[in-house]
Amino acid sequence: MGKSPQVNREVWLKDIEDLIANLEMLFEYSEVNIVAFKKIIKKFQKYIEHGNVSNVWTVIKAYRFFSNSELDQVLLAKAKKELRKSVPEMALTPTEALPVADQGNVPTVTKLDLDALPGGQISKLWLAVYEDGTGSLIRIPVIVAKGVKYGPTVGMTAALHGNELNGIPLIHRLFREINPQQLHGVLVAATVTNVPGYVRNQRGFSDGTDLNRIMPGKANGSSPQVYAYNLMERLIKKFDYLLDIHTASAGRVNSLYARADMINPKTKKMAILQNPQIIVHNTSPDGSLRGAAMSNDIPAITVEIGDPSKFQKRFVKNALLGVTNILCHLNMIPNEVDQPEYDPVVCSRSYWIFASKGGVLTVQPEIYTWVRKGEMIAQLHSLFGDLVETYYAPEDGVVVGKSVNPVCESGSRIIHLGVVEDSFAKEAHDGHL
Ligand SMILES: [Zn+2]
Repeated sequence: MGKSPQVNREVWLKDIEDLIANLEMLFEYSEVNIVAFKKIIKKFQKYIEHGNVSNVWTVIKAYRFFSNSELDQVLLAKAKKELRKSVPEMALTPTEALPVADQGNVPTVTKLDLDALPGGQISKLWLAVYEDGTGSLIRIPVIVAKGVKYGPTVGMTAALHGNELNGIPLIHRLFREINPQQLHGVLVAATVTNVPGYVRNQRGFSDGTDLNRIMPGKANGSSPQVYAYNLMERLIKKFDYLLDIHTASAGRVNSLYARADMINPKTKKMAILQNPQIIVHNTSPDGSLRGAAMSNDIPAITVEIGDPSKFQKRFVKNALLGVTNILCHLNMIPNEVDQPEYDPVVCSRSYWIFASKGGVLTVQPEIYTWVRKGEMIAQLHSLFGDLVETYYAPEDGVVVGKSVNPVCESGSRIIHLGVVEDSFAKEAHDGHL
């Protein structure tokens, strides 16, 4: 990076971050051709050498309006990849100059006393809920933005399934954008709700138990039940509204969708404001966090953002817009509700289609596409290559999620099919929480 100034490293990193974000916007939303893009990159690299990125965006903006072709798209994608390769390396050396957060400064608490926290500020806390076999506290990372004016308390929980991670960058971005000085009410977010699962890169608790099936837990119960109980008592019950953020499970992919009770006017409104690709009417099942919250009169929806064990920027960006919509609607932030370009597909019910036999599975339709009754949706082959079974769509529907793991056992999931009908059933479950 040569002579780039050391003093302004933070500014420099922020510039780089903004620049990448802007380049991505450019790539996704505006029409440039590759010649222009090459020029941009050339200039960009020149600026990098001189340690001044802030001017680059001005240069890029000048090239906004060009024609677009499929070939350009491919080349653009390549250029973007190259850019990604080069930028972080330059930005991250030398490492000793990077700002390091002092995690020791984040206090540990055993109860979340929102009244005691300062207004007009963002507070970071470790909320202790459990002790592990070493007697160490297991602590949930909680971020609180407390406004100076009265308003509701909205809670967000991510990674209740420890490998479902897209909620983490969503929360980070939201808190970067929130101005607590202008906020009405309180925004509380747990970036990782199932800490023992998260550190093991797994969905379930330390013993594998699915926490989203044993809510609200038990004070005198098994380890996961105690964890669930303390989670409910110390965190969830503080909320007036809950957004529980998930992704698909391992071996599957999801659209951006919300599950909500579409008969309850509050959760219906939340789901529509969340503006996902698909909304699935689903009365909160027993044992789920959403169900436990609803039983405590806390309107709750589940937001399913894409796939497990990864961060998916585009889904996160869209989901963030939805969260902002909800906060606007509750008059917590001053912006206006963003009118979506497309309305979500609202499914009155949904269900999984399961494989009956074992072998290797290929699922045909992509997520968020329509299938017609009788359309082939998957084929199962034996390990010798013989076709064992073909699966067809039992009715018209939209693909909410699907399996991408070829290894298929009897009872493995194939497709999560959403069905659009005129009315919503009082009880609706899809066998997936
Ligand atoms: Zn989940």
